[in-house]
Amino acid sequence: MTATILDGKAVAAEMRAEIKEHTAELTAKGVRPGLGVILVGDDPASRSYVTAKEKACEEAGILSREIRMDADSSKEAILAEVDNLNAADDIHGILVQLPLPDSSIEEEVINRILPEKDVDGFHPISIGNMMLGLPAFLPCTPHGILHLLKRSGYDVAGKHVVVVGRSNIVGRPLANLLTLKSDLGNATVTLCHSRTPDIGTYTKQADIVIAAVGIPEMITADMIAEGAVIVDVGVNRVEDASKKRGYRLVGDCEYEPMLEKAEAITPVPGGVGPMTITMLLYNTLESARRTLEG
Ligand code: NAP
Repeated sequence: MTATILDGKAVAAEMRAEIKEHTAELTAKGVRPGLGVILVGDDPASRSYVTAKEKACEEAGILSREIRMDADSSKEAILAEVDNLNAADDIHGILVQLPLPDSSIEEEVINRILPEKDVDGFHPISIGNMMLGLPAFLPCTPHGILHLLKRSGYDVAGKHVVVVGRSNIVGRPLANLLTLKSDLGNATVTLCHSRTPDIGTYTKQADIVIAAVGIPEMITADMIAEGAVIVDVGVNRVEDASKKRGYRLVGDCEYEPMLEKAEAITPVPGGVGPMTITMLLYNTLESARRTLEG
């Protein structure tokens, strides 16, 4: 068996073209979707994520406004910028790039974003509504994974999905969305984490394995069933002297051997990653649309 590649780049491109079209329609009606981004400090990884998000907005016709702040900005100053974006009529979505230099204030900063502009889906009200199956902006990585599976022809309904990793931004919201009675849900879910003994016992029983751990190739080919669908969320740098930059990116799953055993698999990079930013655009567009509908 040679696995089908779940091509996140292609699905993301298809969705971004749709978003661009809807953005143009909405703009023609007088509401151009707008995203406000707050970047505190000059961490290179955060900087490059923000640049990628802004570029994606530009390509889709979405306005992006960046607020760049010094690393030593006070909590009050950051909250004041959130308040400004909350009040701005041309901004429909707000993103505070995490981690903040002072991680102890993250919760207060995120909680200050109006839930109706919380396009990252990290506000407790968004999370609560998501859990209840009520309208909410869904967190971008889990939401993107569900769209990637659906648009690639893999319906999770009735399937046993094993999620490995229980972070608040990936594993736990994903497990929750998969269990919802909804178009993207109706799966039976097992959620594994660092205190789960012998994870292979669970992953071997899965129709779909989703790994979001952050450990290079932790899920090996002998831990999956023949014909399983594999979604690899992990993005890990491993040293590689043969590469100009000195490293290569690998996922949480053992890719090459799984190609021979899985029914389908996401590559790293080019699988889940492109979907995450796409869902940010999707949520920003949706937020703008809601203002028009009142
Ligand atoms: P995280 O917050 O570090 O959470 C990792 C999770 O993995 C935790 O729940 C942890 O369990 C679990 N874990 C750690 N060691 C384990 C082990 N030996 N066995 C089983 N579970 C173990 O990470 P994250 O933010 O969810 O990200 C996970 C990976 O996805 C990272 O590589 C990250 O870069 C990548 N990521 C990619 C995207 C994208 O768009 N492509 C987006 C987000 C994240 P405990 O809770 O028990 O500690």
